[in-house]
Amino acid sequence: MSHTGPARTEQIRANIRAARARIEEACEKAGRDPSEVSLIGVTKTYPASDVRILASLGVTDVGENRDQEAAPKAAETADLGLNWHFVGQLQTNKARSVASYANVVHSVDRAKLARALGDRAAAAGRRLTCLVQVNLDTDSEAGVIGPRGGVDPGDVVGLAERIAEHEALTLGGVMAVAPRDGDPDAAFARLQEVAGVVRDHYPRATVISAGMSGDLEAAIGRGATHLRLGTALLGSRGPIVG
Ligand SMILES: *Cc1c(COP(=O)(O)O)cnc(C)c1O
Repeated sequence: MSHTGPARTEQIRANIRAARARIEEACEKAGRDPSEVSLIGVTKTYPASDVRILASLGVTDVGENRDQEAAPKAAETADLGLNWHFVGQLQTNKARSVASYANVVHSVDRAKLARALGDRAAAAGRRLTCLVQVNLDTDSEAGVIGPRGGVDPGDVVGLAERIAEHEALTLGGVMAVAPRDGDPDAAFARLQEVAGVVRDHYPRATVISAGMSGDLEAAIGRGATHLRLGTALLGSRGPIVG
């Protein structure tokens, strides 16, 4: 499959249209206004040329899950002034790099990372919006760490405090990935509850980042404000998993 040229643009245009139709239908079912739901194009494994195509079609919020891939792509498209979202598990030693290009980090899962991101953002004269990633994998309650990252629901407010107190960070809200073989509706219902508790403490932390290509309807039904769509916009990534 070619990744450049008019055919690629038309394909992505059609994919965006189909995704927006799904979003509108899900919003109608949920009694929500589609303008409450933002779409983030997750561009991992796809080239910077696709980022340009997305931007040309109005998708100016883009996401990546690995710094090694995100940093050069953000640099190649710096002229576009995009809003970069970092959505993957993040090692503290990458905080400096991520804080140099990201606007939003969805995957803050420990106080040490929040501090590192805040200190690096401050040093670069930037502000970062951070979301607390919530672990919705009920296995972790039995002591098995869920494979998808995040803090347990009971620890979310404590970590939110660490973010909110840093001068260079803004607490945006919460994020989660539905468990691989669970019911996404039940998982996102739990996330919505946790988001409500965070909002009780921090009324401006209204973001619920939930919903990917396979489960965006369930996420919209449970109050998602930001969808992270890769496959639905750019096509199947094949055997490479993120
Ligand atoms: C890859 C990825 C997505 C997008 O997944 P799709 O199923 O391709 O839409 C969303 N969120 C995170 C954290 C990801 O790593």
